[in-house]
Amino acid sequence: MFVKVPKILQNFFPKIVWRHKTHEKKIWLTFDDGPDEKTTNLILEILKKLNIKATFFLIGQEIKKFPDLTKKIIDDGHTLGNHSFSHADGLRTKKEKYVYDVELNQKLINEKLVESGISKKQKLFRPPYGRILPNQFNELSKQYKIIMWDVFSWDFKENLSQKRLQKNVLKNVKPGSIIVFHNNKKSYNNLFCCLEKILISLKKMDYSFSTTW
Ligand SMILES: [Zn+2]
Repeated sequence: MFVKVPKILQNFFPKIVWRHKTHEKKIWLTFDDGPDEKTTNLILEILKKLNIKATFFLIGQEIKKFPDLTKKIIDDGHTLGNHSFSHADGLRTKKEKYVYDVELNQKLINEKLVESGISKKQKLFRPPYGRILPNQFNELSKQYKIIMWDVFSWDFKENLSQKRLQKNVLKNVKPGSIIVFHNNKKSYNNLFCCLEKILISLKKMDYSFSTTW
């Protein structure tokens, strides 16, 4: 289990964004999966309370189930990213199908943005499970910024202690870090206990939150 991505992996895909190069105390907060009824509302409530903006990498089939929650994320001023339509696993999906799955979701995301009056559409893609093959990457990177992370919270692990979860983030964060939490059912309890605490600690450490990719 690793919290930070090994350097060797980062070197294998140098064009992927693992972390932003900056010395400023800016970090990028990201949430994968969803929307999910319970968890998305919890996250949005906390972010609103602390006046923090984040990037949500949404799954198309969940956007279809929860159009109103998707709209709420946009209307609260957060940024949308693409996490594929069906949460496709890059290692088990042929290139054409994989690319199609991502584009299908992007169409949906763009529609939602237009509905909310947003004209500026960044194309951001985070591969489900962090898995993408070179041929898929080469195709998608023509259009999308492929975003990974350097700090993984493991918030979806049910038996993770509160202390461990907080440590996973607070001990590994540095200027330019991209932090991953999860916007799904599995992470609800951990986010309920700790997300607000962690974000307050990050603010106390003088970090500000960016959604400019
Ligand atoms: Zn995912």
